[in-house]
Amino acid sequence: MSRPGSPGAQPGPEPEPGRPAATDGAPTTPTRAFAELHAGNRRFVAGAPHHPNQDAERRAAVADGQHPFAVIVGCSDSRLAAEIIFDRGLGDLFVVRTAGHILGPEVLGSVEYAVTVLGTPLVVVLGHDSCGAVQAARTAAATGTAPGGHLRAVVDAVLPSLQRAAAEGVDDLDQIVDVHIAQTVESMLDSSAALAAEVAAGRCAVVGMSYRLAAGEVRTVAAVPAGAVSATDGLDRALGAAA
Ligand SMILES: [Zn+2]
Repeated sequence: MSRPGSPGAQPGPEPEPGRPAATDGAPTTPTRAFAELHAGNRRFVAGAPHHPNQDAERRAAVADGQHPFAVIVGCSDSRLAAEIIFDRGLGDLFVVRTAGHILGPEVLGSVEYAVTVLGTPLVVVLGHDSCGAVQAARTAAATGTAPGGHLRAVVDAVLPSLQRAAAEGVDDLDQIVDVHIAQTVESMLDSSAALAAEVAAGRCAVVGMSYRLAAGEVRTVAAVPAGAVSATDGLDRALGAAA
C-alpha cells in the first residue's frame, strides 16, 4: 500500500529563517516537536509524568500569547486526552478533536491557523484502537444502513478509509484504524494548500499516530515528509537515554 511516507529514509527538514520564534523554549522544528511528544508519551506510559507547564507561573506566562509546538487532530474519544497522554501543559498543544478524527472546513481552518499564524511546526493525526467511529462506519457498510442525524456525516467521512482498507485486503479493525489515520494525513494535505506549502517548505511535518488504549503508547503509522520521523527516532532515543 502507498501510505504517505513510511518512517525511514531522508534526513529531516531544517527550519527556515522567518519562522516565528517561540519565546518559551518550545520546539520550533518538526523533528524536535516530534521528539518532545514521544518523550512525554513515554513518561505517561511509564507512570512517571512530569506534568510540565501546568502551574500558575505557566498560566501567567502564556496569557499574552501562545506558541504551541504541535497541532493534535485527534479522535474525540474520552480516553484520548492529548495533554495527558503526551504529558504536556498550557500553551503546548493546539488540539482539534472530532469523532474518528474526521476532517471538515472548520478542522482544516483550525489547523491552518495554528500552522500559518502561530507557526506550529508539527501536525499529528491521532487515532486509536477500538475506535467507535470506525466501528460504526464498518457496521453501516456491512449492513447497508446509515445512522440518522449528523452521525451520518461522521460515518460517511470514514467510509473512504474502509474502501481503501478493503482494497488493500485489510480486515482487522485496528489495522483499519491505521489505514484511516494514514488516509486522514493524506486527505489533510490534499485539502489544505496552505498546510501543503508549509510542509513543502520544510517548516512543518504531518504525522499519523495510533494510540493503544490499554498500553497508553503511541505508534507512528504515517509521516510527511518521512524524514521528519526517521531523523527524530535517533534524537528520540538520545533524549530517552538522557532522561
Ligand atoms: Zn475513536
